[in-house]
Amino acid sequence: MEPIMQVENVTRRFGSGSTEVIAVHDVSLTMMPGEVVIIMGPSGSGKTTLLSMLGGLLQPSSGRIQIGGDDLTQLDESRLPDVRLRHIGFIFQDFNLLSALSCLDNVALVGQLNGLSRKEARQRAQELLEQLGLGHRLNFLPEKLSGGEKQRVAIARALVNKPDIILADEPTANLDSHHGHETMRLLRRIAKEEQRSVIIVSHDQRIKDIADRILWLEDGTFMNVVEMAIDPVCGMSVDRESAPAHTEWQGQTIYFCANGCRDEFMASPGQFWQATPIDL
Ligand code: ADP
Ligand code: MG
Repeated sequence: MEPIMQVENVTRRFGSGSTEVIAVHDVSLTMMPGEVVIIMGPSGSGKTTLLSMLGGLLQPSSGRIQIGGDDLTQLDESRLPDVRLRHIGFIFQDFNLLSALSCLDNVALVGQLNGLSRKEARQRAQELLEQLGLGHRLNFLPEKLSGGEKQRVAIARALVNKPDIILADEPTANLDSHHGHETMRLLRRIAKEEQRSVIIVSHDQRIKDIADRILWLEDGTFMNVVEMAIDPVCGMSVDRESAPAHTEWQGQTIYFCANGCRDEFMASPGQFWQATPIDL
């Protein structure tokens, strides 16, 4: 399988001299089709700067970002909007919906910008909104929607051009935990079914279980790039290296967040270990 995106040694500086800030420092990342990655890290660690570069909204000071056949960092600035439209779907924290347009038109507009006819764009927008459970909201203005519904419109809009990569900056920040988690699971399902790559920047510990990989950004650098295991008892993601407990079962190593979970598992393994617990 070919990677969808390759990020090599990307650095971004702001300012110069004594006021220089290195917001992102020497970051590399490869995204495969169908992969969901969550980037976590404290405020000011460079998450938004990194995501903006991956989405072609901001040029790195150095390093390369390849998407499809295009090297974003070599492209003329004037070509970036086109690459963004074709390859990238953005989900912003505040949704960025146009308040004067209906849900349907908010989504269809992006399709039209990418060259679909008005009819095709509206048709595709309608299909997506229906798929996301908003068939009964097509002609509503954004102000009439709940936070969770607005977010699903933003997701539909990010998907309308069938982008290879979907980028989301703190997508659950304005949602209650139930709706936030629900829509993130939906995003994961779309990634798996349609082989898109999804990168989510988030503080939200509760959505960790939708990720194939969790990356921790601190001072602009990935601290350790680990594939998380899932504790089958409590569902928490656990780092294999530092897992407090593990056991061998049916030829696999299973990791736990605590001895208590391991004990519970050992008492009745069949209750906890069916299919891979992360699959939805
Ligand atoms: P996060 O999204 O993780 O909170 P950011 O990427 O927004 O972090 O910011 C990382 C660092 O880069 C911070 O120190 C921030 O002040 C700085 N920074 C971000 N954008 C700019 C900018 N446009 N000009 C100057 N400094 C910036
Ligand atoms: Mg940010």
